[in-house]
Amino acid sequence: MAKLICNVCGSEKDVPKCCDKSMILKDNYLMCCCSDNCGHQHIPECCGQPMNYID
Ligand SMILES: [Zn+2]
Ligand SMILES: [Zn+2]
Repeated sequence: MAKLICNVCGSEKDVPKCCDKSMILKDNYLMCCCSDNCGHQHIPECCGQPMNYID
């Protein structure tokens, strides 16, 4: 399952969900895999930088 991990402190976080599924990474945004209408959101930050998306 995809996760977000901080490169600096190593903390882990679940990827936000949309339409009951984990969002996917695209062009440095998190997108819903189901529909373009759901829009996108920024990757959560930790320690002042975007977290690392791990598949
Ligand atoms: Zn951190
Ligand atoms: Zn959605």
